[in-house]
Amino acid sequence: MALDSKVPSGSISDKWTSYKDHINLVNPANKRNIDIIVVGTGLAGASAAATLAELGYNVKTFCFQDSPRRAHSIAAQGGINAAKNYQGDGDSTFRLFYDTIKGGDYRSREANVHRLAEVSTNIIDQCVMQGVPLAREYGGLLDNRSFGGTLVARTFYAKGQTGQQLLLGAYSAMNRQIGRGKIKSHTRHEMLDLVLVDGKARGIIARNLVTGEIERHSAHAVVIASGGYGNVFFLSTYAMGSNATAAWKIHKKGAYMANLCFTQIHPTCIPVSGDHQSKLTLMSESLRNDGRIWVPAKLEDAKAIREGKKKPADLSEAERDYYLERRYPSFGNLVPRDVASRAAKERCDAGFGVNKTGEAVYLDFAAAIQRYGKEQAYVKGFDANDAALITKLGTKVIESKYGNLFQMYEKIIDENPYVTPMMIYPAVHYTMGGTWVDYNLQTTIPGCFSIGESNFSDHGANRLGASALMQGLADGYFVLPYTIGDYLAPDIKTGTISTDLPEFVEAEKKVKDQIEKFINNKGTHSVDYFHKKLGKIMWDKVGMARNAKGLAEAIEEIAALREEFHKDVKVTGTADSFNQELEKAGRVSDFLELGELFAKDALHRNESCGGHFREEYQSEEGEAQRDDENFAYVAAWEYKGKPSDAVLHKEPLVFENIKLVTRSYK
Ligand SMILES: Cc1cc2nc3c(=O)[nH]c(=O)nc-3n(C[C@H](O)[C@H](O)[C@H](O)COP(=O)(O)OP(=O)(O)OC[C@H]3O[C@@H](n4cnc5c(N)ncnc54)[C@H](O)[C@@H]3O)c2cc1C
Repeated sequence: MALDSKVPSGSISDKWTSYKDHINLVNPANKRNIDIIVVGTGLAGASAAATLAELGYNVKTFCFQDSPRRAHSIAAQGGINAAKNYQGDGDSTFRLFYDTIKGGDYRSREANVHRLAEVSTNIIDQCVMQGVPLAREYGGLLDNRSFGGTLVARTFYAKGQTGQQLLLGAYSAMNRQIGRGKIKSHTRHEMLDLVLVDGKARGIIARNLVTGEIERHSAHAVVIASGGYGNVFFLSTYAMGSNATAAWKIHKKGAYMANLCFTQIHPTCIPVSGDHQSKLTLMSESLRNDGRIWVPAKLEDAKAIREGKKKPADLSEAERDYYLERRYPSFGNLVPRDVASRAAKERCDAGFGVNKTGEAVYLDFAAAIQRYGKEQAYVKGFDANDAALITKLGTKVIESKYGNLFQMYEKIIDENPYVTPMMIYPAVHYTMGGTWVDYNLQTTIPGCFSIGESNFSDHGANRLGASALMQGLADGYFVLPYTIGDYLAPDIKTGTISTDLPEFVEAEKKVKDQIEKFINNKGTHSVDYFHKKLGKIMWDKVGMARNAKGLAEAIEEIAALREEFHKDVKVTGTADSFNQELEKAGRVSDFLELGELFAKDALHRNESCGGHFREEYQSEEGEAQRDDENFAYVAAWEYKGKPSDAVLHKEPLVFENIKLVTRSYK
């Protein structure tokens, strides 16, 4: 099937408005006759479900947690972007659009990104009206901070808990609709297949995770809001339950998977400490507003620090290498995540790492503590030369901005980051790839939509910080509620979709068969054993630096591991009970397929861009080298039985409003 992005005609700034003026609408009375399934109740799914129900549709939501408010979105720390220009520092819709396209290394669709920038301001108004406690300045106005890849301060935040506060807002809106009977919420339910009737998405098969019962649910359209697939790497900053099953199941039913290799490695995470770990912890990018990143300038000092013979405070300013400030004077510590991550790896690979494994750099707040301390001393009329007082005052300011993050770091590492610089290293954090969607957020399956992190999104090859929350809420509150109406308008007379149709029976049987197979497999290794092995292949050969040889090996190794998994996995417990081993088995089975396609996508893209770094394509200074002539397209893969047979479709990317230039942050 040829890809049709359905981008409306007209000038970039008029497209969305004019589109909304001309689409089909469903009148309020008819909305009552239409059912919509929303799989996922993170920020994208919860905002969509609440809005669709408010509009009058009958909504059924599904999530695998015990409550929608425990979705992975709750972990988001640093903030959400919006082009409000409250700081008067030159921000605008165009600038947010421009920064996002450039930040994504020119691998995203212009029309979608412009729409995102346009609706970004509505999100803040919506959330403030819901009562979300976004940070405010002393005078009561909403505060902003800066994130990487931008020269303005446009990030709204709620301490280091922005996702939690936004999700509470969306969840409250959802709850109002649950109370009205417009949303039927199915918690602890996992979607295990999509049901197509006459080529259209008409329902899902879900497992009740408490009783093990397999259920059929029908609707006129299905919205997938199931989050990203970063846990294919086993270790990541994702919630441990995050998985790709919903997205992978729709892929197998006809939804194309796009740009899988565009994965974000976040530069400021707590370094891996050993084999025992099952999860990594993020230190928010907001810390780069005030923290300075450095390693020792001399190899012998780095070695002495690793061996515990020296401490970071023993090194004078001249003995430190603030390598981001040195290499990128304009953006300094606030370069985009892909650039900061690669620069950290480059220093550590060269032997300058500062922890025992040699894979850590410092994030240091000493200078910020002094700066803020002095400012406070002046403001309060204290002695600006009293060193102890300055440190105390400055520490208080840092604590008020980032206190919960510092506390989290201290609990994990057992070192006081107000005194000793934090140690950080890049880790898998976000997936820009996902199900391909057109301008309407519809996948290649009619009636099956995908929103939030589960779609291939507006972030191109790299996501700028604070833009995932913006995209998820834009999709859920302001985009999908319009576009889905256009699709549903011809469905007003269809009536309820019966779950007795043969398509439901067949899909249910397939799900049950797979569960039985896992339970009866009687292999010798746990699911985690295989997941860890997959994660190691992914990190070593499909991770921060990739090359053709490693990727080809990864493809073979993942296929072999998948075969071994199906022969030898041991799933304890029963099918008709709460069984987390069984849940994991299904998810890892899907990751073992997705991982191979991911590597295949990375192998075919003979260029470096954003989070996709191919060692063969770099400049002399180690910067990513794009190939716009041959790779300025979205790579969308069609399922054909197994990952190795997937067929590539290309959506060319046309840049009419932003000139394609080499990305520079110097
Ligand atoms: C530590 C951390 C900090 C972050 N900080 C920021 C930040 O400051 N700013 C920012 O913009 N972004 C941030 N991000 C990224 C951002 O949080 C996520 O991209 C975003 O929240 C994803 O939202 P979502 O609604 O698409 O998916 P999720 O929040 O992942 O929700 C997925 C939902 O799908 C459900 N689900 C999944 N599969 C199934 C299935 N098969 N059946 C039923 N239900 C299913 C889950 O139960 C859940 O409800 C951060 C990410 C991490 C890991």
